[in-house]
Amino acid sequence: MKELKDLCRKNIWNLAPYSSARDEYSGHEAHVFLDANENPYNTPYNRYPDPLQRDLKTALSKLKNVPAENIFLGNGSDEAIDLCYRVFCNPGIDNVVAIEPTYGMYKVCADINDVEYRPVLLDEHFQINAEKMLDACDEHTKLIWICSPNNPTGNLLDPDEIHKLLDSFQGIVVIDEAYADFALAKCFRTELQDYPNMIVLNTMSKAWGCAAIRLGMAFASTDIIGLFNKVKYPYNINILTQKQALAALNDKLLVDKWIRIIRDERNNLMNAFSELPICDVVYPSNANFFLAKMSNAEDIYNFLVGKGIIVRNRSKVKLCGNCLRITIGKRSENQELVAALREYYSKL
Ligand SMILES: *Cc1c(COP(=O)(O)O)cnc(C)c1O
Repeated sequence: MKELKDLCRKNIWNLAPYSSARDEYSGHEAHVFLDANENPYNTPYNRYPDPLQRDLKTALSKLKNVPAENIFLGNGSDEAIDLCYRVFCNPGIDNVVAIEPTYGMYKVCADINDVEYRPVLLDEHFQINAEKMLDACDEHTKLIWICSPNNPTGNLLDPDEIHKLLDSFQGIVVIDEAYADFALAKCFRTELQDYPNMIVLNTMSKAWGCAAIRLGMAFASTDIIGLFNKVKYPYNINILTQKQALAALNDKLLVDKWIRIIRDERNNLMNAFSELPICDVVYPSNANFFLAKMSNAEDIYNFLVGKGIIVRNRSKVKLCGNCLRITIGKRSENQELVAALREYYSKL
C-alpha cells in the first residue's frame, strides 16, 4: 500500500475540520450547557447529538468485535461510500475500479464526484478475478470496490481473490458486506488488523430491519476513520437514530431469529422458482434475495406490478439479461408471489 498521505487528497489531508461546541468540552462532568446556542427547553431534542456517537460505537464494538476507534458511522452506508470518494479521489484526475454487475451507488457517487469509474466484468458465475481487476488499475486508481455477498447477484465472492487484491493493490480496497449477516462466511472486518488498506462497510438496513433510521458503518484503520470524521457533517447521525439503533442492538436474538426465518424462506422460494416453467435459472444466494433468469422478465415484471407485487427488474444489467431480483418477504408474501407466477404461466 502507498502511504495514506499519498492516497488522500491534499486538501483533505491538510483540512482543519469544524470544531463543534460538544467536541471541545467532552469528557468532563458538566450540568450547565451554555456553549452551543441551544434552546434550554424541549428536552431531549434541544441538545445537539454526540458528533462521534460514542455510546452507539461502544455497543457496536462489542457486537462486531471491532474497537470503537476503528468504526465510522454514517447516514446509511451511502454516506460512507460518498466519503470514500471525497477523501481519496481528486475529481477529474483519479479513478476507481469496481466489479460489474454490482450495487449502483458506487457508480452514482463516482459520477457525482467527477471520478472515472472502471467496471470489470465478473465471470459467468458472477465470480471475481483479481488479475483482471488489477489490470484495470493505473497510478491514478485510488479505490477498488468489492461487494460480497454481491448485489444484485446474491453470491459471495471468492475470498482468495479478494485477498490477492488486498495483498497487491497499492490503494484502498472497499468491501461492502451489507448482506454478510445472511451468509455463513467469515467476515472481512475480522481481518482489519492485517490490512491498513481495507475499508469494510456494514449497515443496519438489511438483517437488522432498520432501513428507515439510516445507519451505516465503515470499519477501517484509525487513520482512515480519522479522515472520514474530519470530512463528515459534524452531527451526521441524529439523536433519534442513535437511540433507536442502541435499542435495536439490545435484541440480537430477535435479529438472529429473523435471519434464520429469512434463510429458510429463501430456500423455499428458490425451490419454488426452480420448478416454474417460466424460470430458466435460479442463481445461488447468500443474501436475503436471489436472482432468477426468467423466460420474459419484462412481461412477468409488468404482470406482477398489475397484481400489486413489486420485484426488481434487473434485465438491463450486464450479465443479468431477463433476470428478476426477488427480495425474501414474509411467508404469506412469498406464497402470493408464487401463486401469481403460476397464474401467469397458466395463461400463456
Ligand atoms: C442495501 C445496500 C446497502 C445499504 O445502504 P444503506 O445506505 O446503509 O441503507 C449498502 N450496500 C449494498 C450493496 C446494498 O445492497
